[in-house]
Amino acid sequence: MPDDLPDAVLVSRIRANVERVRDRIARAASDTGRDPASVRLLVATKTQPLAAVRAAVAAGVDLVGENRVQELVAKAPALHDDVAAGRLRTHLIGHLQANKVNAVVGLAACVETVDSLALAQRLSRRAETVGADLEVMVQVNVSGEASKSGAAPDAATGLALEVASLPRIHLVGFMTIGARTSDDTTVRRGFALLRDLRDDVRGQASGTSAARELSMGMSGDLELAVTEGATVVRVGTAVFGERA
Ligand SMILES: *Cc1c(COP(=O)(O)O)cnc(C)c1O
Repeated sequence: MPDDLPDAVLVSRIRANVERVRDRIARAASDTGRDPASVRLLVATKTQPLAAVRAAVAAGVDLVGENRVQELVAKAPALHDDVAAGRLRTHLIGHLQANKVNAVVGLAACVETVDSLALAQRLSRRAETVGADLEVMVQVNVSGEASKSGAAPDAATGLALEVASLPRIHLVGFMTIGARTSDDTTVRRGFALLRDLRDDVRGQASGTSAARELSMGMSGDLELAVTEGATVVRVGTAVFGERA
């Protein structure tokens, strides 16, 4: 066997973990009367070596998220064939600095972390320059924790409407990282806030009708997010194990 093929042991371990995560999603969805197919699994691949990412793809994962542009760029060539064949999509789920915009447009299908008009304008200009289309989500800091990026909830609607009006970038929804607390009620309240924002923006002005996604929920809180309407859950640890 050529040694660039994903290691069979790694693939089967990751496949088992992915199945467990899909079961968790399905159970949470049916518990709240939602169609399990309405929730997509995005596998968060930050710090994972290429072999682990390829093993996830071999295990049937079709959506991955990178946090750092550098890692996105480094892994892109090896994943190019899967992306070109439509088997794999990559989202940027980490904070994007203005000076990294050029590297992202054309590589990521979606930037989930737009949190300022200036960043959205840069993405739009770059997409126009290279003739690409780019999906974006507005990241919202629903918990108000200082360590988290994202637009403040009371600024998010205005930002989303402006983002939706820019050329070549397409507002597909909203993203958040849940509150860092063991109190489920607080976590759920944050997710519900993101849903309310989406419902408020969607259909309000031109360019917002596609803004249906709610990217929320991770390994520790995905059930709460699905209960509150997540359409994308971003899972790393439950698929790959603890990060080194
Ligand atoms: C790391 C990360 C995740 C996945 O977190 P886990 O707890 O490992 O599942 C999801 N979203 C973002 C933005 C992340 O940085």
